Amino acid sequence: MRFKNSLTIKFMIGIAIITIVLMTVNLLWNIRQYNFQAELEMKEKAEVIAQQLIATRSFIARKQDLINANYDGGYDFKHLNPAAVGKGIGEIFNGYSGYKFKQTRPIVRDPYNAPDNFEIEAMKQLAADKNLKELWGYDEIDGNRVFRYLVPLYYDESCLSCHGKPVGLNDISGYAKEGFSSGEFAGSISVVFPMARFEAAQRTNISSQIVFILFMVFVSIGLTYLMMEHIIIMPIRELTGKVAELGRGNLSAQLTEIQTYDEMRSLAEEFNTMASKLNELYNGLEEKVTERTALLSEANQRLLEQGSKLQAMNAKLTETDRLKSEFLAVMSHELRTPLTAIIAFAEILLAEGETLSSLQQEYLQDIFESGHQLLSQINDILNMSKIEAGLAKINCNQIDIKEVLNHLMHSISPLVSKNRLTFIVDISADIPNIVADREKVIHIFRNLISNAIKFTSNGGEITISAALVNDQEKVPEVVVKIQDTGIGINQEDQKYIFDKFRQVDSAESREYPGSGLGLALARNLVEMHGGRIWVESEVGRGSTFTFVLPVIAKGC
Ligand code: ADP
Repeated sequence: MRFKNSLTIKFMIGIAIITIVLMTVNLLWNIRQYNFQAELEMKEKAEVIAQQLIATRSFIARKQDLINANYDGGYDFKHLNPAAVGKGIGEIFNGYSGYKFKQTRPIVRDPYNAPDNFEIEAMKQLAADKNLKELWGYDEIDGNRVFRYLVPLYYDESCLSCHGKPVGLNDISGYAKEGFSSGEFAGSISVVFPMARFEAAQRTNISSQIVFILFMVFVSIGLTYLMMEHIIIMPIRELTGKVAELGRGNLSAQLTEIQTYDEMRSLAEEFNTMASKLNELYNGLEEKVTERTALLSEANQRLLEQGSKLQAMNAKLTETDRLKSEFLAVMSHELRTPLTAIIAFAEILLAEGETLSSLQQEYLQDIFESGHQLLSQINDILNMSKIEAGLAKINCNQIDIKEVLNHLMHSISPLVSKNRLTFIVDISADIPNIVADREKVIHIFRNLISNAIKFTSNGGEITISAALVNDQEKVPEVVVKIQDTGIGINQEDQKYIFDKFRQVDSAESREYPGSGLGLALARNLVEMHGGRIWVESEVGRGSTFTFVLPVIAKGC
């Protein structure tokens, strides 16, 4: 269950607990003080009674001669000695006051004066310590609690006629003398007060205090409730209502009904300031949002227009690019036919070279080599155009890498021997036939090998190696490396040499002719087969181009 005003309830409980604790401590303190006072009072009363009896006894003792004198001046014992008078007064006193006192001794002559247990114990202490002038404590007699008080009595000269020496001789009252001396412990005056009256007063005191505590608790709870309601809860309720109104969007909400002039008023004023600021801010914000939204939709509109313009331009460009590639493919094809014829005729003429002069033979050789170079470049353009126009397809054949290299050696060897290059081929014996497009694989080899020859100076070395990588977790692959001892390529240039029409811009490489298409085409062809290609090179020490083809190419 949740109390409506749980804050008030918490405060009321807190105040009630504090009041109860404080009042209980006060009550306990009062009880303790009352007991202390009561004991002091009883002790004083007992002391007065005891001293009065002692004074009476002393008076009787001193006046014995007078009391026991006859009219004729003779001695006649009247039985009014201190003991007898003390007992007599005691009996009368005990009769109507409810308090009791008696004179007692460890060994009594009159059984009426015999000590009880409390008195025996007290007298032992008093006899043992002469400095003890009184003793008091609490006891129970016939089921009632009582206050006990004892003062010591000592023999003096006036006592010795009855209690002194010689021992055994009867005194005037007929009792045998005990042989005591002056100053010896004689006994005690014992006073007994019933506690009932004090206890009843104590009970009345406690119950009236408990009633007072309850009254105080109710008063403090009531006051707390009233104060909390008027000083805290009502303003907070008002504030909560207004905050809720703010939350619902009524930013003009203001606190007007706070009647106090304390922190609650400052809180209300702060709230009003905050609400007004929020209102202002919100109105400003709304204007700004409308303004910005208009700007945004304008910009959006412009963007949409530009986007559709760009789309149209893009479509146009794609179409132009496709037409260009198509044109290049057709043109390259058209160029190839007469060029092949030129190369073939040059070859025939060279074959029948004996009838020609050496100058004519040299010219023919130039025609033959330039024709080949031109043909290779046209082939590159043709292939690249086909790939870009989406016309390139893979024709899957069984390919023997060794056979491909032998085929290429035919066109490569004249250049190799011309440049006095050492050409090493190292094909691993376990290489199987691969399934790929034969023409395209030859093209990859040709481009990489002709680059190696082109960029390796006379006397250099070119090594072609191929190996099988048959990793359990991957498809089997053939790794081919074309390594040369040529001019090398620096780190920066290695990043873009596989891009179309990109050549290294250095004094050395500028000496060599080329279109900048060879490596781009090789990469496209390798990737078409599902392979990959990369270069490792160091300027002045040579380059190693590595390409990897799956044993069964992608799409085969
Ligand atoms: P290019 O027709 O110019 O040879 P490529 O795409 O085949 O075009 O090569 C691009 C560039 O990469 C070359 O111009 C050359 O600078 C560099 N290059 C390629 N292969 C080698 C190599 N084996 N040694 C040094 N540089 C090379």
